Amino acid sequence: MQAEQQPQVLIIGAGPAGLSMAAALADAGFASTVLEQAPLAQIADPAEDGREIALTHRGMAVLQQLGAWQDLPPEQISPLRRAHVFDGSEPRFLGFEPGEPDAAGQLGALVPNHWLRRIAYQGALRRAGLIQLRCEARMRSLSLQADAASVTLESGETLRAPLLIAADSRFSNARRLAGIGAEMRDFGRGVIVCRMAHEEKDHEATALECFHYGHTMAWLPLNGRQSSLVLTMDSQPLQEMLAWDEARFTAWVQEQSLGQLGKLQLIGPRHHYPLVATYAHRFAAQRFALIGDAAVGMHPVTAHGYNFGLYGVQTLAGLLKGAADPGDAALLQRYAAEHRRATWPIYQGTNAVVKLFTDERPGARLLRRGVLALAGRLPPLKAAISAQLTGKPWRPPLPKLPSLPDLPFFKRPLNRP
Ligand SMILES: Cc1cc2nc3c(=O)[nH]c(=O)nc-3n(C[C@H](O)[C@H](O)[C@H](O)COP(=O)(O)OP(=O)(O)OC[C@H]3O[C@@H](n4cnc5c(N)ncnc54)[C@H](O)[C@@H]3O)c2cc1C
Repeated sequence: MQAEQQPQVLIIGAGPAGLSMAAALADAGFASTVLEQAPLAQIADPAEDGREIALTHRGMAVLQQLGAWQDLPPEQISPLRRAHVFDGSEPRFLGFEPGEPDAAGQLGALVPNHWLRRIAYQGALRRAGLIQLRCEARMRSLSLQADAASVTLESGETLRAPLLIAADSRFSNARRLAGIGAEMRDFGRGVIVCRMAHEEKDHEATALECFHYGHTMAWLPLNGRQSSLVLTMDSQPLQEMLAWDEARFTAWVQEQSLGQLGKLQLIGPRHHYPLVATYAHRFAAQRFALIGDAAVGMHPVTAHGYNFGLYGVQTLAGLLKGAADPGDAALLQRYAAEHRRATWPIYQGTNAVVKLFTDERPGARLLRRGVLALAGRLPPLKAAISAQLTGKPWRPPLPKLPSLPDLPFFKRPLNRP
């Protein structure tokens, strides 16, 4: 992939956020160079990694604007119509449905992460005149000056551009080198993700979030009678479980699933990830911006990480469009403020949910039961949570006002003295 022009923007990281950023900038007229430490094969043909990414309506809309959604084979898009949240083994649940009737009646859609990475690469490839992807190009250091930013690679080569964007994961080294700290929350827990078939029962496009005691089990509905299991627990038992063979693992999951999906069968490898959330103290500095997980790395329970990456791409490219200088300080500050507004409440809300639903003390158990019951009885609260989860705008319902002729004044006969 070879850009014909000098880059106006340098991007560190060719993950889905970095490549989508390059595509959005190309559509806004800016040439960029993306620097990636991994070899090209890993970016062009990414391996399956077990993650099924729940996309919000806004996340899908950004991918459609980029022309990337259209590259997804339909069988890789699984509709998500409802979500049911359970507390322990209680049969009652808190249900979420799409807030407003929309054409597809969906909360969102699930797409495998390696497909999102693949379409991000294809999008960059289509814009090769404005995007240069340099693989096996690991950033070693950076410098942010008043007129330009520069990056030095492990090879010793230095590149300069008016703007540097870091999309180098939640453990971003570029963020640290730019002097930006981050809140880091290590939950001391990990997650195992894998696909399971359940031929006896259909999931009806419903995600199940089961907050058991000791572990959390989420079932994400995939096309056909298959679901993705997202199993969260403390790191130590999780490490032990990873050593179990398939039969032992499946038997344990079968027992814990309480028969919700019938007989289960493991149909693929198990992948695991540590759970660490991050939130950068600032999203912009002189000639520098953070996007993707480098800006906000979410706990996956509310499924927002990559959605936030896409929101950031849309916001930053939208602000820079038409700008004479892509590193303009005022525009970068506006991006930082808007991205913070879009992400901070959900970041905090997600961490609060995780804290409450992983607290095993008796008081906390009572509280989480109470919270679910309260949310179930307050439709506006549920609608607000649904709107946040789906990325759709939500306005508090206004009290129904009487129409003018119903008011007592208008009920008086008009011709009475
Ligand atoms: C189990 C799990 C489930 C998830 N579920 C959801 C979900 O349902 N919905 C959702 O929206 N999100 C979800 N996410 C989050 C989502 O996967 C991430 O937000 C997204 O993949 C992050 O993309 P990124 O491009 O910001 O970072 P990454 O994918 O981490 O890419 C960073 C890139 O930068 C490169 N890099 C790093 N350092 C350097 C360097 N020094 N020089 C050059 N290159 C460098 C890396 O090689 C890498 O290619 C989930 C995450 C997990 C773990």
